[in-house]
Amino acid sequence: MTFVCTGYAASAADKPLGPFSFDRRTPTDEDVEIDILYCGVCHSDLHMARNEWGGTTFPIVPGHEIVGRVKSVGSKVTKFNAGDLVGVGCMVDSCRTCPSCQEGLQQYCETGGMVGTYNGKDKYLGGITQGGYSKAIVVYEGFVLKVSEKLDLAGAAPLLCAGITTWSPLRHWKVGKGQKVGIIGLGGLGHMGLKFAHAFGAHTVLFTTSPSKAEDARRLGADEVVVSKDAEAMAAQRGSFDFILNTVSADIDLSVYLGLLKRDGAMVNVGLPEKPYSFSGRPLIGGRRTLAGSMIGGTPETQEMLDFCAEHGITADVEVIRMNEINDAYERMLKSDVKYRFSIDMASL
Ligand code: NAP
Ligand code: ZN
Ligand code: ZN
Repeated sequence: MTFVCTGYAASAADKPLGPFSFDRRTPTDEDVEIDILYCGVCHSDLHMARNEWGGTTFPIVPGHEIVGRVKSVGSKVTKFNAGDLVGVGCMVDSCRTCPSCQEGLQQYCETGGMVGTYNGKDKYLGGITQGGYSKAIVVYEGFVLKVSEKLDLAGAAPLLCAGITTWSPLRHWKVGKGQKVGIIGLGGLGHMGLKFAHAFGAHTVLFTTSPSKAEDARRLGADEVVVSKDAEAMAAQRGSFDFILNTVSADIDLSVYLGLLKRDGAMVNVGLPEKPYSFSGRPLIGGRRTLAGSMIGGTPETQEMLDFCAEHGITADVEVIRMNEINDAYERMLKSDVKYRFSIDMASL
């Protein structure tokens, strides 16, 4: 059984987003039905809506930084009640049984992969899953997170992707006190990376192409700001970093940053540009350095991150927009003109 939900969708890669009605399943025994209050705008939404990664099925309703209130729960749901404040991130299901799923790392599900919140394979209705640029969503309770009433809701929504995507690698590579850590790019992910690296006690350096963001970067947690176009300033940083997190949405030259790592240092890419990277392997071998990647985070660590944010009063810095401002928001995101995440007030839909 289904009900009709309204949202905003892209009908083709070269078309703007516009109003769209579609079916959602009526909640099963193990589902949580959520009225969406805010949805953050991730650069991945744009990559997907414009089919920059290939494989987008249209029409598509993007959005995977969802905060809302539980409207109803199925009879077997144990963790949630109507009225609870909850979040949904980039995935709504997985196989639930493979080793990665058992370890709570469902984003690396080994049997068919995670079910994305949008453009995922919908095992209930067929076709694709549709995301959070919409009034409501129905999700299996295992992929619903608890959100504290203490947090500003518009600013909490981006924690569900930008937050966990930067939290997870910083935790996995044990970033903390006594370390020098670089964050490349001050957008949605980058500004959360700055906040977390600072909160974990690292000496934090922002690399940016936008000199005008320097003051904000210091307020957000940067101890130093380096404008990446300044060759001299970049050279002065050579061989000094324990860890660098690359959050850039474009295919920057990674060799330059690999050379800034200490011996045995690691750089982790979370950005996923449309074009493949090309870089020299020389700085990797000279210095036994590591280049790695990381994808969002599993449900246990997402909950851990949300709880940490509630305890420390951390949310994203957001510009709240109306649903019908989404196409303009995408254009501004492409110009690196976002401070530092757009969050859609779903009451405007
Ligand atoms: P965003 O808000 O648009 O921020 C990207 C930032 O990168 C910009 O603000 C800009 O910062 C910098 N930048 C953009 N174009 C650049 C260029 N040509 N050269 C150098 N720097 C450039 O994007 P986001 O939402 O944070 O997402 C960033 C990337 O992460 C996207 O590719 C997205 O798909 C990906 N992502 C991956 C995961 C994952 O699980 N791994 C999760 C979410 C998103 P400055 O102005 O400071 O230079
Ligand atoms: Zn995202
Ligand atoms: Zn699995």
